[in-house]
Amino acid sequence: MDNFYDVLIIGGGPGGITAGIYAKRAGLSVAIIEKGMPGGAIANTPEVSNYTGFSKIEGIELATRMFEHASALDVPFIFEEVKTVQTNDKIKKVITYDNEYSAYTVILAFGASVRKLNVEGEHQFMGKGVSYCATCDGALYKNSVVALVGGGNTALEDALYLSNLASKVYLIHRRDEFRGEKYLSSQVKNKANIELVLNSVVSKISGTDKIESIDVFNKQTKQTNTINVDGLFVCIGRGPDTDMIDGDIQKDSAGYIVTDQNMKTNIDGIFAVGDIRNTPLRQIATACSDGAIAATKAFEYVLLARKTNK
Ligand code: NAP
Repeated sequence: MDNFYDVLIIGGGPGGITAGIYAKRAGLSVAIIEKGMPGGAIANTPEVSNYTGFSKIEGIELATRMFEHASALDVPFIFEEVKTVQTNDKIKKVITYDNEYSAYTVILAFGASVRKLNVEGEHQFMGKGVSYCATCDGALYKNSVVALVGGGNTALEDALYLSNLASKVYLIHRRDEFRGEKYLSSQVKNKANIELVLNSVVSKISGTDKIESIDVFNKQTKQTNTINVDGLFVCIGRGPDTDMIDGDIQKDSAGYIVTDQNMKTNIDGIFAVGDIRNTPLRQIATACSDGAIAATKAFEYVLLARKTNK
């Protein structure tokens, strides 16, 4: 059968690539479908310093190494965007905007997409000052005044990154404590050109052709201040985008896919790994671990499927 695989993996981040490596080494026919750059979220992370064996490595370099590792084992990457995953039949179908593929089993590894603020002006000024990726767009704001929203590791790292380019960075966070790691928050607090705007949320984005100012509402004082900015970076995490799956896949209240400890979802033959599933920790290490488990369990599933001609 054309375009038929034992295992199809959707998403070429650390979880998907690790699953690909394990599946290939187990002798399965496997392919990874990726719509963008391999590496997932780490490809846009300036620096990774908590992945065992790498005390400090640029995200893009780690992503490249993972891609090269899989490629050296002849794990094929299909660079297409998935439109639908049909999960209800025994043979699963993955339909992209270019082709149709089928497989005994599918490992969902496409992570989560960026969260939006959902405030007035956000959509209007997207790409006109509103950005969701500091490493992609930061260079446009040399010696400018920017604001950044968020309190996780991404926001802290991106604030530090931007503070080396922009003249001033307002770091706006909805609480007075950061979710991100202590060593990053101390660096942020010690940076002279980063001003913390805590217990606050952006309530409106204004401008003409491009962003000119933001309204910031302080939840404690109940006051709204207008801050003039040249750019606004939204770094408030990511959420799963599971609309492409046609079956009734079980999700938690936040929309993350529920799996068991073998990364199996409630749909026979469908596994989920990494940021997309309801895991207690979303890190490179945990995504890789998920990928290894899913591929191993997919191997068992495929053996049975072949035998029973499932
Ligand atoms: P995150 O950890 O989920 O943090 C999101 C931040 O945005 C939180 O501070 C949250 O506030 C805030 N937030 C969420 N929705 C908001 C809204 N609607 N309005 C205003 N603020 C909002 O996301 P992340 O920083 O992107 O990190 C994702 C994962 O990747 C984490 O596990 C992180 O540790 C990991 N990561 C690791 C590294 C590294 O190790 N080098 C680098 C980047 C990311 P609350 O705190 O109040 O909920």
